[in-house]
Amino acid sequence: MSNRQTKTDVILIGAGIMSATLGSLLKELVPSWKITVFEKLASAGEESSNEWNNAGTGHAALCELNYTSEKPDGSIDISKAIKVNEQFQDSMQFWSYLVNSNLIRNPQTFIMPLPHISLVQGEKNVAYLKKRFEAMLNNPLFHGMEFSDDPTKLMEWIPLIMKDRALDEPIAATRIESGTDVNFGALTRILFDHLKSKNVDIKFKHNVDDLKRTSDGLWELKVRNVESGTVEHHTAKFVFIGGGGGSLPLLQKSGIPEGKHIGGFPISGLFMACNNPEVVAQHHAKVYGKAKVGAPPMSVPHLDTRFIDNKKSLLFGPFAGFSPKFLKTGSMFDLLGSVKPDNVITMLAAGAKNLGLTKYLIQQVMLSKEQRMEELREFIPHAKSEDWDLLIAGQRVQVIKDTAAGGKGTLQFGTEVVSSADGSIAALLGASPGASTAVSVMLEVIEKCFPQQLKAWAPKIKEMIPSYGVSLVKNPELIQKIHASTERTLGLSSDLHHVKRA
Ligand SMILES: Cc1cc2nc3c(=O)[nH]c(=O)nc-3n(C[C@H](O)[C@H](O)[C@H](O)COP(=O)(O)OP(=O)(O)OC[C@H]3O[C@@H](n4cnc5c(N)ncnc54)[C@H](O)[C@@H]3O)c2cc1C
Repeated sequence: MSNRQTKTDVILIGAGIMSATLGSLLKELVPSWKITVFEKLASAGEESSNEWNNAGTGHAALCELNYTSEKPDGSIDISKAIKVNEQFQDSMQFWSYLVNSNLIRNPQTFIMPLPHISLVQGEKNVAYLKKRFEAMLNNPLFHGMEFSDDPTKLMEWIPLIMKDRALDEPIAATRIESGTDVNFGALTRILFDHLKSKNVDIKFKHNVDDLKRTSDGLWELKVRNVESGTVEHHTAKFVFIGGGGGSLPLLQKSGIPEGKHIGGFPISGLFMACNNPEVVAQHHAKVYGKAKVGAPPMSVPHLDTRFIDNKKSLLFGPFAGFSPKFLKTGSMFDLLGSVKPDNVITMLAAGAKNLGLTKYLIQQVMLSKEQRMEELREFIPHAKSEDWDLLIAGQRVQVIKDTAAGGKGTLQFGTEVVSSADGSIAALLGASPGASTAVSVMLEVIEKCFPQQLKAWAPKIKEMIPSYGVSLVKNPELIQKIHASTERTLGLSSDLHHVKRA
């Protein structure tokens, strides 16, 4: 058993999209800093960031109805949609910067243009969608959104969904051409290749077992080589816990007070993948419906065209479910192991409050393939079982904490950066809107952990992300400029669109 020791500036735990993004940002801001990455699996982007483990939606709130709730007075609140869209613009700008600077290449391997569509049925839902459309129509962030309740038009937009559909109740959709499908797995791998070329030390098959603060204010990590079993000790001035579902246990081990009274609620996922190329060819969009009562907001199944390995695929899901694991490759004891004296009350309160959700998730796990096909048939009326295979998706661990608004044990559906008061360590918890907002969330880590350097770094951040610190919604000209340049650089312009579709 060796006891290798190293000292470095920055350690990133986990090789998912979040560590990839933070590492890439820091390498541009301070090229001289030494960065080391520890990943327990054999390669990058194998957990939630993998292309088959998430839905690949470039979340810009173009079609996801859970970002636009109906207020008690009947009006539509689009503030969350604006925030999510602005966050996605940060990602688009940073990816464009990396392409323009020749730091990464071939954006079509990780991002493709794809119309985003919201589809609803029933009088009440159609009225909601119309109001939502009217609230978003004149907002420059959602420019180009169309609405239709005409079945002939819908047949043009979504032929696979409209074919042989009984039109016994009103139906309507909105469509926006400027949506995207993002292969976050490919992007993660591309970013790690880039980091490797910049001398970032990436250690695969290295599990971070423990971490503690040293007397001189550094962080010491106990790292186990999962192949040889040897244990190493590595210290750093700054640590980012980007372990996805595995972040909460590591945050707890760090012992920082900011990590207390927090729990995690794991939600598993399942997709159905179409194996019939003739069916795949008939669909070209991401189509989101409205959540059923009791369903967690981010788990509304949707019918998605995906571009993976230069091939068009069709995925339906994710179906949410319950599993006590925090990672797909995690352990059945993860949930139990995360209950600590400081969060037990919070966890118990959450358990009591979310009995309905837990029951829903357990019911979802129990669904047979045929029952899942019935849900799919709400989208594709004559979907055939033999054309679809089940696929296990990634795990999400939603944050549970005590909040002023929700009281003890409130389940959160967003992502959350938890950092120590001295900025020497930060963890990312939660999952949604997830990978799409990686750049904005990692900028938040930088703001929280490097406040002294921020002033000096601001010009470089502005160069990479021109909208940094500016409200896009209040600057329609800047939006236009950013849309035009990111679309051109990332190959998303509508004239290219038709070439790619063919
Ligand atoms: C079903 C599903 C659908 C989703 N759909 C979308 C979508 O459409 N659009 C979107 O933007 N986002 C989506 N997301 C969310 C998105 O996938 C995640 O937010 C994102 O991938 C998280 O990235 P990450 O880097 O934090 O975690 P991960 O990609 O999970 O990476 C964490 C890494 O840390 C490693 N690790 C963990 N613990 C340790 C340890 N102790 N030592 C060493 N290594 C460790 C893991 O092996 C893993 O490789 C979806 C997620 C799921 C599950």
